[in-house]
Amino acid sequence: MVSRNTVQRRIVLNAVRSLPIHPTAEEIYSHVAEEHPNISKGTIYRNLNLLADQGEVLRVRIPDGADRYDYKTERHYHVRCIRCGRVFDVDMPCREDILEGITDSHGFIFTDFDIVFTGVCPDCQ
Ligand SMILES: [Zn+2]
Ligand SMILES: [Zn+2]
Repeated sequence: MVSRNTVQRRIVLNAVRSLPIHPTAEEIYSHVAEEHPNISKGTIYRNLNLLADQGEVLRVRIPDGADRYDYKTERHYHVRCIRCGRVFDVDMPCREDILEGITDSHGFIFTDFDIVFTGVCPDCQ
């Protein structure tokens, strides 16, 4: 027997996979609400957090913007269009050793990093 939570999580995961790349929680909610009007926004947010914690989706933190969600879970870099705000993947090898390049930690314990480039997408040029 499949629990209601499992069903909801699957609906949210499918929405992340089917939407154009890197939707916000708000966009995922609007998409899900079309077919499942009785799923609340809180449920969507809770499931997105769960999926991100479990590594089933990647949470992409955008400076000064809403978090985005990505079905591509291996680390990769992103570029945000400064005109339309859409977020795209950047095709380049990821440097996992980037933290080792820090010469003085100034007392910080570094835990992770996100790299978001900015640019102007082809549609907005
Ligand atoms: Zn654009
Ligand atoms: Zn991505």
